[in-house]
Amino acid sequence: MSDSIKVPFFRPSIGEEEIEEVIATLKSGWLTTGDRAKRFEVGFVDYLGGGIEAVAINSATAGLHLALEALGVGPGDEVIVPDLTFTASAEVVRYLGAEVRLVDVDAQTLCLDPAAFEAAISPNTKVVMPVHYGGLACDLDRISDIAAPHGIEIVEDAAHALPTRWRGRLIGSHGTAATVFSFYANKTITTGEGGMLVTPRPELAERARVMRMHGMDRDALDRYRKPGAGWRYDIVAPGFKYNLPDLAAAVGVRQLEKVDGLSDKRAAIADRYLDAFADLPARLPVRGEQGGHSWHLFAIRLDPDAPVDRDGFIARMTEMGIGTSVHYAPLHQMTYWKERYDLKSEDFPVSEDAYRSIVTLPLFPDMSEVEIDTVIAAVRDTLTTGRRAASGG
Ligand SMILES: *Cc1c(COP(=O)(O)O)cnc(C)c1O
Repeated sequence: MSDSIKVPFFRPSIGEEEIEEVIATLKSGWLTTGDRAKRFEVGFVDYLGGGIEAVAINSATAGLHLALEALGVGPGDEVIVPDLTFTASAEVVRYLGAEVRLVDVDAQTLCLDPAAFEAAISPNTKVVMPVHYGGLACDLDRISDIAAPHGIEIVEDAAHALPTRWRGRLIGSHGTAATVFSFYANKTITTGEGGMLVTPRPELAERARVMRMHGMDRDALDRYRKPGAGWRYDIVAPGFKYNLPDLAAAVGVRQLEKVDGLSDKRAAIADRYLDAFADLPARLPVRGEQGGHSWHLFAIRLDPDAPVDRDGFIARMTEMGIGTSVHYAPLHQMTYWKERYDLKSEDFPVSEDAYRSIVTLPLFPDMSEVEIDTVIAAVRDTLTTGRRAASGG
């Protein structure tokens, strides 16, 4: 083990602007969902180019749950989810009593494999949930071509994909039923915890707004702040408690102002890595079209003939004080999913193979030149010297 961390896996980019906005919120007398959450929603719609509505929530998990709920997903329905994702993508389906159909990913992009999606369609398939893995846009054209004739709705898990473009337009503006972004601490912009659901359909936005707040027909701002508004409200459904407080939205409005700058910094580091690692025995992430990758994750897959295996690689990085992570141990290997659906590794050859060799390197906007150089040197050293995993990796 190294005695000092030289490069952490991630460090958030929080400036004085975010700090001042939080202080102003604390002093304002309004901490829960109010004007700042509203400003965050309006700013988000503007950023994505309009033609949609945005609903701020306290996590992307909540947003995915609300999106499926608003689409009427329930018992007897199936939702198709890629195997190589975080469990949140799939768990929300079970919240609603519907069933998850896990499918394999594409070997090049690690996004939902359109052919596997097509093969998994049944009469009960109601929704497909592409995950823009690492921030690379999935092939939305092929996915919608397959989904449309079956009346299957698309809910995009865009937890990694702000900002990501597909065919020149930002993810979230492609007319799918709903797209959900995450502002978890290590995502491309953050509110500590938080998320945004966007949809072009007013009725879905309306349902999500009601259900994020206990199923109340009017929110707190409406009841307490509107001139002449009274205390009365009605309950139209047994809703949830998924609203984003202004204290968190305060960070979000300032982060959103910086989203393009943060993204440019990520892209510049990704370019450095892609150049520096081009000759190494590892499969590098696909770049995608111009702006087609948010570079939330920079995940490499070690070749079978690399001098170390994945665990050996992580052990070496740890020794050298460099943080790494793995995205993801596939869902089909997780006890709950494996047992509920009696899943077999043979049915997920791509995610199974990716998992064996995949490792995510540090990549965050405020990496210093020294930190970038340190990662590059350590990765090159580990993958060129033929050194075997030294310390019990
Ligand atoms: C982070 C993440 C989520 C969940 O986001 P939260 O805001 O933490 O709920 C969902 N899907 C993927 C792919 C994620 O990486």
